[in-house]
Amino acid sequence: MYRVLMVEDSRFFGTLIKKRIQSELQAEVRWVQTLSETYELLNSTANDFFIALLDLNLPDAPNGEIVDMVIGKGIPVIIFTAEYSEEVRKYIWSKKNVADYVIKEGAPTIGYIISLIRRIHRNRLIKVLVADDSEPFRKMVCNLLRVHQYSVFEAADGAEALKMMDENRDIRMVVSDFGMPYMDGIQLTKKIRKKHSREQVAIIGVSAQESMSVRFIKSGANDFIRKPFSSEEFYCRITQNIEMLEHIQKIKDLSNKDYLTALYNRRYFFEVGHKLFANAKRHNMNITVAMADIDFFKQINDSYGHDAGDEVLKRISLILKNRFRESDIVSRFGGEEFCILAMNSDPAQSFGLFETVRKTVESSGTCVGDKTIRHTVSIGICTEAADCLATMIRRADLMLYKAKKQGRNCVVSDR
Ligand code: GH3
Ligand code: MG
Ligand code: MG
Repeated sequence: MYRVLMVEDSRFFGTLIKKRIQSELQAEVRWVQTLSETYELLNSTANDFFIALLDLNLPDAPNGEIVDMVIGKGIPVIIFTAEYSEEVRKYIWSKKNVADYVIKEGAPTIGYIISLIRRIHRNRLIKVLVADDSEPFRKMVCNLLRVHQYSVFEAADGAEALKMMDENRDIRMVVSDFGMPYMDGIQLTKKIRKKHSREQVAIIGVSAQESMSVRFIKSGANDFIRKPFSSEEFYCRITQNIEMLEHIQKIKDLSNKDYLTALYNRRYFFEVGHKLFANAKRHNMNITVAMADIDFFKQINDSYGHDAGDEVLKRISLILKNRFRESDIVSRFGGEEFCILAMNSDPAQSFGLFETVRKTVESSGTCVGDKTIRHTVSIGICTEAADCLATMIRRADLMLYKAKKQGRNCVVSDR
């Protein structure tokens, strides 16, 4: 749960927004109606508001006084305005810490507010790197990004930027100036593209020269912003590019992952598994293939219903996912059967690793309503190197069969 502050004197608009936010987001709304109430609230309670929604015209603050007060507390704000003019727009963007403004025009407006809050909340997990040698300009861009709550990194030149990218593999966006000492923005873009595709890391070039737009994009940038730019334009471009990355990720997940458990599917397992297998062979690395199958799962469905069975599948999938590394593949092979490819695993320790998994499943249980469903898994593992992945899977499956025959809830290894 995160907290949203709303200062709005219209009962109608306020009620609508509060309801929608609380039903659609994991947020709690604290709603006050005047400047003085806001003042009291912010001085009396812990100021842990994630964002504030502020009406520009309040009975005791007709000229936007509320904005300065809330911004003074360091809270990013979204401004509501009933009147819109170029003057109002300029006024709004003259303020620091404004994330966006919304013109009050009914239902579509509320949809926009919801998606905006959701967007900004999600941004906290997105890392953005700003590369610019001019400190004032870099600070300005970083501040804009921080208002939208991105996790921000700064570099004063291209070389430093590359180093940061190596240290922070999950940086998703780079905003790069063109003119920088040692390595300019175009060279930086080309270097990043050697390691990360446009779908993995979005690069946005920035320059005062219009001709740079083509050069940046032809060198692999996703977009270009010409200096000077308005905050509003900057936010539009950043959001659009981040959403593009997210859409692509979603499409990838849809084709690679299982809908119910979010584990990789069988198709992905084979696609990536073959490559990992070949790589492991080439470098003489050990790998372990394991097949796990839930015991008497049909009985769980029969006793508690199919939906409860689905919850058990999700719970056990999570246990598996948490136990292995990013470099391993944990997949749902079908039904209640899972296949795991563990890279660089010491064969002598594999048994212990899967024994821990088995014990965790046995001791966890899945809560459905007021009931706790107990469950166990049987696991077969193959640690002996074979000439192909399919052979290892077959052996793991054979070991799983033995585990079932031995009475289930156990691990059987080929060693
Ligand atoms: P064993 O210990 O021998 O593995 O017994 P079992 O009952 O687990 O195995 P069996 O293969 O007889 O039954 C598997 C059941 O899993 C049957 C099927 O309806 C159920 N199942 C397969 N996919 C899903 C799913 O996505 N959700 C739910 N709830 N059940 C599923
Ligand atoms: Mg089973
Ligand atoms: Mg089965």
